[in-house]
Amino acid sequence: SERPRLVDDGEGGVFFYSATPSSSRFGYASMEKQRQRLPVFKYRTAILYLVENHATTIIVGETGSGKTTQIPQYLKEAGWAEGGRMIACTQPRRLAVQSVASRVAEEMGVKLGEEVGYTIRFEDLTNPDLTRIKFLTDGMLLREMMDDPLLTKYSIIMVDEAHERSVSTDLLFGLLKKIQRRRPDLRLIISSATIEAKTLASFFDTSKKSHVGTDKESEPKKVPAMLSVEGRGFDVEIHYLEESVSDYLQTAVSTVLAIHDQEPAGDILVFLTGQDDIDAAVQLLTEENENHGRHASGLTIVPLYSGLPRAEQDLVFYPTPKGKRKIVISTNIAETSLTLEGVVYVVDSGFSKQRYYNPIADIENLIVAPISKASARQRAGRAGRVRSGKCYRLYTEEYYIKEMMSEGTPEMQRSNLVSCVIQLKALGIDNILGFDWPVLPSPEAIIRALEILYSLDIIDEDAKLTSPTGFQVAEIPMDPMISKMILSASSLGCTEEIITIAAVLSIQSIWVFGRGAQKELDEAKLRFAAAEGDHITYLNIYKGFLHSGKSAQWCHKNFINYQTMKKVIEIREQLKKVLQRMGVSLKSCDGDTNIVRKAVTAGFFAYACRLEAFGPSGLYKTVRSSEDVYIHPSSVLFRKVLMFSYILLSLFWA
Ligand code: ADP
Ligand code: MG
Repeated sequence: SERPRLVDDGEGGVFFYSATPSSSRFGYASMEKQRQRLPVFKYRTAILYLVENHATTIIVGETGSGKTTQIPQYLKEAGWAEGGRMIACTQPRRLAVQSVASRVAEEMGVKLGEEVGYTIRFEDLTNPDLTRIKFLTDGMLLREMMDDPLLTKYSIIMVDEAHERSVSTDLLFGLLKKIQRRRPDLRLIISSATIEAKTLASFFDTSKKSHVGTDKESEPKKVPAMLSVEGRGFDVEIHYLEESVSDYLQTAVSTVLAIHDQEPAGDILVFLTGQDDIDAAVQLLTEENENHGRHASGLTIVPLYSGLPRAEQDLVFYPTPKGKRKIVISTNIAETSLTLEGVVYVVDSGFSKQRYYNPIADIENLIVAPISKASARQRAGRAGRVRSGKCYRLYTEEYYIKEMMSEGTPEMQRSNLVSCVIQLKALGIDNILGFDWPVLPSPEAIIRALEILYSLDIIDEDAKLTSPTGFQVAEIPMDPMISKMILSASSLGCTEEIITIAAVLSIQSIWVFGRGAQKELDEAKLRFAAAEGDHITYLNIYKGFLHSGKSAQWCHKNFINYQTMKKVIEIREQLKKVLQRMGVSLKSCDGDTNIVRKAVTAGFFAYACRLEAFGPSGLYKTVRSSEDVYIHPSSVLFRKVLMFSYILLSLFWA
């Protein structure tokens, strides 16, 4: 009776499996026992059977059921990594790649980077001879296609977290479908935490279009198989606010403290939006905790966001000692990508950082925006992992019912497509509009992307990559504008300076927020601030950091994030290697900031704007579309526009 049943869902031959829910997971057990208790374990045979017989298998299962960590191991055990082949498992987020890879290496008792490895941008922890299971970001797999268009190294590709619908995931879907036509031996697994993945089944269903009409004996079935891993979590009681609040950060902090005072043991997971509000919440909680003498009771407060140093990431997974309570304050990375054991209470702010792109104005923003009902349900589910739990939603029930969208929009439809288009071009797909998109991006966004690439001299009149610029830009693993800036620097003679700037631009922020000392932070910024703006300021900081002997103390004193600076050095080294491989020479302009600014302008001229009105933050209008724009508060130019406006103008019109 434990065996899964095969059910035809009556909709075009998609298969469903179902089985009795697994028992709960309590207590401590050996790694092997732990693995066997995961819901997905019951489906091991079924999964292997489906993968053997179908070109594409779609697996839906609740977060924590074992999809990411177990399935690649099952595949390896079944021989899919023999004969020099590899199993790939993609994730939309870098942090998740590192975390699941190290977990799987630990479960298999191997050294990370050998049999199990991972690749993220600027970090490759794999061994070409040894690695059999490789975790990587979906973006890195796209890059691998540039060298190996049919991804011949892999026998199976598991595209994980499909429900996130990141731009790269969607792009991968279209490309993998193309590869499948040429490689009947390749197997795809698409795994998702939500059932919406069902729509992907029809996307990957090529059986109807096939000329022969029937499947060939020797080839896997073209109809995607669908498997749903049962094993629901425990009940979660949902609490709403009676009235909406304007300050979700403060409300989150007081909710956490109330839970801690009134509720029995169990960890608390708080969903905020990004590094800035998470650091601020950690700060507030730590202060409140000390003020109220809660110190003795042992609250452990840990942040979780990408860009966090490895050691701090790992803190999140340490089991909470008895009698203590852990509070994890996270971005939506803990929504489905990572599973935290021991969480019983969830506090959901109702927001996350999301990309929004307006192709008409050509402005892309990363803004704090309301989440969807689907996300809210996922977040609540995190409270029911070990026993029944509670979720505190920092919004009203009426808001949830009437105003929250049921599902989010795929990122493809709300982002700038410049990188996406150049990637397709680099893979030889010239008819962008004719590409088999799982979800159609807006034509305006595509046209805008083509326009930008043309103005940057990356594509020509026929919308083909230019040689060498276009091909070189595509090869540098950075935003095309940054890549173009780097290439211009090579002819201007300031590559050494520009790769420092490029490295800083590719990380979140080098400043430390949340130490509650805005005035000191502003003063620290002034110490490095260059009249020419943030780019030159970054050079000053980098110089200062090197001069200090890469000192952590120096960083602390100057409100600069030490870990981030180490990352800058690392990325810079990697970029250097990429450029050397391409035969681009490294030159320094010895402090001539004019040359550096010319290179910056060569990459970013599309964002030029004109100062319209003086004021505390200054009003600018974009040159291209006359949109109103302002200086961002994090910029060294904020509040000092009056003084610097002349210099800025001269930069744009140089
Ligand atoms: P899914 O992909 O279905 O969401 P995972 O395979 O990521 O599930 O996780 C399965 C289980 O493995 C989790 O419930 C958790 O118990 C355990 N696990 C995963 N990652 C870690 C980790 N880094 N440390 C400890 N346990 C982990
Ligand atoms: Mg997973």
